[in-house]
Amino acid sequence: MMDQLKNYYKEMGVDEKVFDYAQEVEKGLKDRFETLDAIAQLNQIKVLNAMQKHQIAEMHLGGTTGYGYNDSGREAVEALYADVFGTEDALVRPQITCGTHALGLALSANLRPGDEILAISGKPYDTLEEVIGIRESKGSLKEYGITYAQVDLLEDGSFDLEGIKNAINDKTKLIHIQRSKGYATRPTLSVDVIGEAIAFVKEINKDLIVMVDNCYGEFVEEKEPSEVGADMIVGSLIKNPGGGLAPIGGYICGRSDLIEQCAYRLTTPGLGKEVGASLGVNRQFIQGFFMAPTVVNAAVKGAIFAANLYEKLGFKVIPDGKEDRHDIIQAVEFHDPEKLIAFCEGIQKASPIDSHVTPIPWDMPGYDSQVIMAAGTFVSGASIELSADGPMKEPYAVYFQGGLTYPHAKYGIIMSLQRMAEKGLVEIPEIS
Ligand SMILES: *Cc1c(COP(=O)(O)O)cnc(C)c1O
Repeated sequence: MMDQLKNYYKEMGVDEKVFDYAQEVEKGLKDRFETLDAIAQLNQIKVLNAMQKHQIAEMHLGGTTGYGYNDSGREAVEALYADVFGTEDALVRPQITCGTHALGLALSANLRPGDEILAISGKPYDTLEEVIGIRESKGSLKEYGITYAQVDLLEDGSFDLEGIKNAINDKTKLIHIQRSKGYATRPTLSVDVIGEAIAFVKEINKDLIVMVDNCYGEFVEEKEPSEVGADMIVGSLIKNPGGGLAPIGGYICGRSDLIEQCAYRLTTPGLGKEVGASLGVNRQFIQGFFMAPTVVNAAVKGAIFAANLYEKLGFKVIPDGKEDRHDIIQAVEFHDPEKLIAFCEGIQKASPIDSHVTPIPWDMPGYDSQVIMAAGTFVSGASIELSADGPMKEPYAVYFQGGLTYPHAKYGIIMSLQRMAEKGLVEIPEIS
């Protein structure tokens, strides 16, 4: 079987030397993968339990049009999310266009002029800079008189408790925590560590609203930040919880009073959650959520495989090959634009869709430098599918994520290395 796989790989453009090296790396990951499979089992049963409890039925898989009154499928989706993430309520809609929109919505719905946002895990994800007004932009929260303050993580990646205490003032209304590293090279935060930080700020002022940007974190651990005290968790459906099937959407799960505000902001005061036709997406939302624990499992395995493959070649990988995982992102620092480009070309070549196109750096809206992206995805831009991107600036780090199946993630990562080897950018170790 091994020989046959090697032949297939050869036909698909992978040299024997690269293949052998990759197989050797994978051999060392058996125990890690077993632990991940246990987490996937746990989350799968958690989701299944919620589906049975809410008696999900065929009628929930259909959709509504027009105003979308009495959309039982939409209500079922929201009940499922709230149940699985352990929150009072949830807003899960195709009208929430992406993760940034969901985060912007959660903020603008729950803040009023004079309020201050305090980010305690450092600078938020790039696209939020314009939402908040850290970078000047039309319609930002800053224009509405909402101010922003930030406390960076300490050198070792932990929360700066002293700094947080000093930064909280009478205006502070909402605490922002980002679970995943996003486009930074700091460590991702575990749910337990997030829980400790939440307990700390609630001790200072129990009325502070804690919002966690949960993008890329869902189902990586056996619990979510909402189960350790977060008042709202927010994410994108074309990442983890959509399971690769959701074609659009975002979610906000949390305290019912906060979700109510979000609903009034998403639609309009007076209408709230009652409108918003689900069109045809209920089936994909529900089935995707059902698939998500195993899809996330595949993605995390791919990330760990990539970490070990590149770490052994001498590159700095974040997280490192042995670290526990709290999100699906793998960063590799290349300090070389050519290597970053070659990596992305390999991922693209390995894709089921658009494998024939070549990724090039471009000025992507919302980002402050050029970005190169590789994604041959069924859902455009879905980063739960095998994808890689990186800003064209030091440290020329690639952020790799996704893979609907582990065999595909593995092949994609091997192709990234193959591409680098072809261009003479790396030396592949000999396996005896
Ligand atoms: C992807 C991401 C976002 C934004 O989501 P989009 O769907 O790309 O708008 C926000 N925060 C983090 C940490 C992310 O990874």
